[in-house]
Amino acid sequence: MPQRTKCKKCGEILYEDIELKPPHEIFNRFNGRCPKCGSKLSSRPIKVEVQMIE
Ligand SMILES: [Zn+2]
Repeated sequence: MPQRTKCKKCGEILYEDIELKPPHEIFNRFNGRCPKCGSKLSSRPIKVEVQMIE
């Protein structure tokens, strides 16, 4: 089942793959900022949304 992680502010898809990734890895990958809106991502508490795609 794929994982989709979106920016909570602008809805930009930050990560989408069949492989599950822990939120802090996604956080590190973008240096803590959404590449689209520049909004600060927070790894703790988790502010990115993880959704399971059916
Ligand atoms: Zn954003």
